[in-house]
Amino acid sequence: MPETRPAVMWFRRDLRLADNPALLAACAAAGEDGVLAVFVVDPVLWGPAGPSRRAYLAASLRSLHASLAAAGRTLHVLHGDPVEELPRAASAVGAHSVHVSADFGPYGRARDERVERALADQGVALERLGSPYAVAPGQILNGSGQGYSVYTPFARAWADHGWRAPAEAPHHDSWLALHGQAAEDALPEVALPEVALPGGLDLPEAGEQAAQRRWHAFLDEAVRDYDEDRDRPGVDGTSRMSVHLKWGEIHPRTMLHDLARLRSTGAATYRRELAWREFYADVLWRNPASARDYLRPELAAMRYDDPSAEPAAGHLQAWREGRTGYPIVDAGIRQLRATGWMHNRVRMIVASFLVKDLHLEWQHGARHFLHWLVDGDLASNQHGWQWVAGSGTDAAPYFRVFNPTTQGRRFDPDGRYVRRWVPELRDVADRFVHEPARDPAGLPLGYPAPILDHAEQRREALSRYEEVRNRSGERR
Ligand code: FAD
Repeated sequence: MPETRPAVMWFRRDLRLADNPALLAACAAAGEDGVLAVFVVDPVLWGPAGPSRRAYLAASLRSLHASLAAAGRTLHVLHGDPVEELPRAASAVGAHSVHVSADFGPYGRARDERVERALADQGVALERLGSPYAVAPGQILNGSGQGYSVYTPFARAWADHGWRAPAEAPHHDSWLALHGQAAEDALPEVALPEVALPGGLDLPEAGEQAAQRRWHAFLDEAVRDYDEDRDRPGVDGTSRMSVHLKWGEIHPRTMLHDLARLRSTGAATYRRELAWREFYADVLWRNPASARDYLRPELAAMRYDDPSAEPAAGHLQAWREGRTGYPIVDAGIRQLRATGWMHNRVRMIVASFLVKDLHLEWQHGARHFLHWLVDGDLASNQHGWQWVAGSGTDAAPYFRVFNPTTQGRRFDPDGRYVRRWVPELRDVADRFVHEPARDPAGLPLGYPAPILDHAEQRREALSRYEEVRNRSGERR
């Protein structure tokens, strides 16, 4: 029999019991000596998280706590710097190992290295197993052993690489009470964080069971038509799984395993969308500075407006409030504020408007998104923004400028989406719902006229881009 000792399972972005290899490893290391389950509320992450993510995380922790309680265990929620909290928790129960799913984000990697050193000082190992991805960042390489900077070949190589089958859930026996229960009790008893939601914010149900329910409902009802419906914000045609993936309430490997049984084009398209998430995590892992800086540095040299001076300051404020006078932009921002989520097509339109109509740097918009998004994820958000801004991974050229009116007409032809989130437009005729300023009946009461002229700003954006191209000597 291998020697067993109590172990610590440090939950972070893997708030589930099923398909969790790190948890299985903790159970195996501990045997009947028991596993101490902890989550550390780290002020460095909690501080900037914004009300949606904080409230969602608190609800998800409550759900995990309930699942652990059903297995006779407790989730200890500690508050403070993990570099101090983990060694303290490990020594309280006499653990020899702390188990985690590896973190590949810039802050998480550095934090884990610091925690690892602090634990090593007291003879405790930090054991990393698994990651929040089907294929961990850094694994997908081209023929020359390099990472990919373009999505399509990455997605192909990622699919060829494949992934492991889902891991089993731990047996309840592994959750036997810790020897030295008194030591576990000696850990400070900390309440789960209570978060007051700002008025008007309504978040999805959190937790592993909620993730499973949502996923199976999507598989049963919507995945077949996903290919057609995913671009229509007025239709509930996407999975809404991003928040569950963000917190690891379900692992993408589980989802890919379920998708493999389906033959529809919807299922194939959905798999490609999951590959975007993996691609951006890989790109951020290779380019940690791209969380803040331009991936294509030449675009940093473009002329941008100063958001602290007029008129840009007023424009930015109108964008943040969903009062630009462009219905699909305003609907998206209001959906974000009301639900912590925005439809992907609309994220692109709203982001394009900030960069190419308001001439502001993408970071201003990315910050606003991260503040309100319940699925706010550094890799997907920053690279989603950089993609739209033309400074990111893609061949997506800067000169592709989304026209908010034609995008609205095309993807929300009956105006269902804009009417849902901009109630001032409820009675506007379909023909004018994406252009209410042209309605002969006049603008509806309370809805603003467009803050600027899109065609004019498009020309302005292109001329600024031209300046950068001329300076960097780029050729079409
Ligand atoms: P579905 O259409 O059901 O897609 C399934 C899953 O595939 C998603 O849950 C997500 O994990 C993944 N996915 C789909 N599209 C993308 C994409 N373009 N990039 C990365 N992953 C994708 N996604 C986040 O999870 N967090 C963010 O902070 C985030 N910020 C974004 C910012 C901008 C400017 C843009 C353009 C996109 C952003 N996305 C982000 C990607 C995408 O908009 C969301 O993942 C998607 O809208 C989530 O809804 P869903 O789960 O219903 O998506």
